[in-house]
Amino acid sequence: MGTPVNIIVGSHVWVEDSDVAWIDGEVEKLTREEVITAKLSKIYPKDVEAPAGGVDDMTKLSYLHEPGVLQNLKIRYELNEIYTYTGNILIAINPFQRLPHIYDAHMMQQYKGAPFGELNPHVFAVADVAYRAMINEGKSNSILVSGESGAGKTETTKMLMRYLAYLGGRAVTEGRTVEQQVLESNPVLEAFGNAKTVRNNNSSRFGKFVEIQFDKQGRISGAAIRTYLLERSRVCQISDPERNYHCFYLLCAAPQEEIEKYKLGHPKTFHYLNQSKCYELVGISDAHDYLATRRAMDIVGISEKEQEAIFRVVAAILHIGNIEFTKGKEVDSSVPKDDKAKFHLKTAAELLMCDLKALEDALCKRVMVTPEEVIKRSLDPESAVTSRDGLAKTVYSRLFDWLVNKINNSIGQDANSKCLIGVLDIYGFESFKTNSFEQFCINFTNEKLQQHFNQHVFKMEQEEYTKEAIDWSYIEFVDNKDVLDLIEKKPGGIIALLDEACMFPKSTHETFANKLYQTFKAHKRFIKPKLSRTDFTVAHYAGEVLYQSDLFLDKNKDYVIPEHQDLLGASKCPFVVGLFPPLPEETSKSSKFSSIGSRFKLQLQQLMETLNSTEPHYIRCVKPNNLLKPAVFENVNIMQQLRCGGVLEAIRISCAGYPTRKPFFEFVNRFGLLCPSALEGSYDEKVVCKKILDSMGLKGYQIGKTKIFLRAGQMAELDARRTEVL
Ligand code: ADP
Ligand code: MG
Repeated sequence: MGTPVNIIVGSHVWVEDSDVAWIDGEVEKLTREEVITAKLSKIYPKDVEAPAGGVDDMTKLSYLHEPGVLQNLKIRYELNEIYTYTGNILIAINPFQRLPHIYDAHMMQQYKGAPFGELNPHVFAVADVAYRAMINEGKSNSILVSGESGAGKTETTKMLMRYLAYLGGRAVTEGRTVEQQVLESNPVLEAFGNAKTVRNNNSSRFGKFVEIQFDKQGRISGAAIRTYLLERSRVCQISDPERNYHCFYLLCAAPQEEIEKYKLGHPKTFHYLNQSKCYELVGISDAHDYLATRRAMDIVGISEKEQEAIFRVVAAILHIGNIEFTKGKEVDSSVPKDDKAKFHLKTAAELLMCDLKALEDALCKRVMVTPEEVIKRSLDPESAVTSRDGLAKTVYSRLFDWLVNKINNSIGQDANSKCLIGVLDIYGFESFKTNSFEQFCINFTNEKLQQHFNQHVFKMEQEEYTKEAIDWSYIEFVDNKDVLDLIEKKPGGIIALLDEACMFPKSTHETFANKLYQTFKAHKRFIKPKLSRTDFTVAHYAGEVLYQSDLFLDKNKDYVIPEHQDLLGASKCPFVVGLFPPLPEETSKSSKFSSIGSRFKLQLQQLMETLNSTEPHYIRCVKPNNLLKPAVFENVNIMQQLRCGGVLEAIRISCAGYPTRKPFFEFVNRFGLLCPSALEGSYDEKVVCKKILDSMGLKGYQIGKTKIFLRAGQMAELDARRTEVL
């Protein structure tokens, strides 16, 4: 922002503070001159006339700056007003409590067809505009929901989908309707793709884009769900106080009959679950949710037989995790450790309906193909465990993909639909103590979305100026293209270099990191940390993130061990075979490696193409505190999220132009007293406004068709003069 502002004795200001972000203050004494000019980055003028209950749209604030924005959100949050607009962007602050009535049928009815901005800000209002725009203009729309983990993205997405189902649902329901299936896909995907984490008790461990298709009458006619990057490592590795995917606990709480059939027991008896001491969730009954998940599966069209197979595979994964190894007779070989390990091995083989010996071999041996012969090499116990966990992860991620596919086929696609509304629920920017390949991909996604957002905000701003017929040629466009180039440029970007490293057998993370250091020595967005020889820092739009390169190569390789493929491809269970379709001849020969990074990049590219062909709407979810508790509003934390989510960037773009807009009428009311003569004899508000502004000696403002557009700082100046007069 950085625009100077005049401060005089008596000015109400916000002063920057490192603990609470902003302190409310009043200027008592100025040492030298009567008026000083302060840098706007340290002190901000305060709007003493702001309504006590805050404003429902930030652009109605007289001063559009960080403390003003924060204060407004805080006032509203205290009144349980969790939604606030910033122009067209909806900011949603997680209430961490069920607020009465705000999502009930009556509320939906109220928002249906109501002009945007007339009622209280709400997710329904956003969905309603998207739906109306689609119907009226025949154009696809999308709603992009973002925010950090636990901010409320998934809940918001579900609300959006419920409202769209309400708008586009059929009056008479017979059997399962498309919209019911769309809604019930949520609990199914959550059972298999969500888990308790430190940040959220029901954290989605995958990204999701739901495309809802509508027919000419505006009724839901189909839907497609696309998912992104399920967190695979969670299947085998969790730590206190987190949990593994919900489905494992649900199954352990299934009716007795199933427990016996799958030879299950308490979650603490399974290695994949007992690495964390957290087994239960407060307020959640796994037994109840197991039955609810089965019902949801019925509705989305997963047959009884398929459900049986799905849970059989889930149980098999738990048993696989309990197969421990010890050294075998030969050097560097391994065998199941004891009777317990043998029991789990046998049970896993039974459940997967594959040959017992073949399963043991697939875990403990590797086939080596040399030009002369095919030999079986034994693995030491440590490698056998890695092989075992690899199998569990592969089976689980195939199972998840199968579910998504099944849901899509069962709901059905409307190939004739020209209109759709896409809803994106995707992980927000992440920066932890240690950041690996997953964070890299997630932050890459966020850079892409940020670029999309900037372009859009910029365009909307231009449109507003065009509508009011004022000149906007000065707005400077902010761009994060340089970070995107660093990551995805082909050839030469980080992803391309990573693929190269993965294909070269002698690469290690050290050689990879060195290559990065050499290549990006002079890149503004790339930093080599002084004390590390393998870490690297990327200066993302939302801040710097230090990545540990150790596991980048491994995690980038999308590789199913051929022995595992052969084993499960030969299962007697058609469902299991279906998870492992035979590889086409071509790829099985050259299947050295396919890259997760490149595939993800391609997926993102497709997503951006889809989004670019739609009219976007943005919802920024904010997590008010890390305690996951209601009524706790942490200033610094929230400010950081507003920065990362681009809300402040949107404000900055708007500050670069004419951040303050006041309808003529309001302006005259507030500032008429500065120039009483302007009010005499003239009834044209526009003329009066101009007289007032000129009498104050202001320059550079613009007069639109219905509003006055002021440059940053001008409002403060007018207010200061007003205080003097009063
Ligand atoms: P995210 O998807 O952003 O990680 P979720 O949507 O799963 O976050 O929300 C985390 C938790 O916050 C939810 O399980 C719920 O308890 C609470 N929550 C989120 N949004 C709302 C809301 N609008 N009303 C009440 N509780 C909410
Ligand atoms: Mg979520």
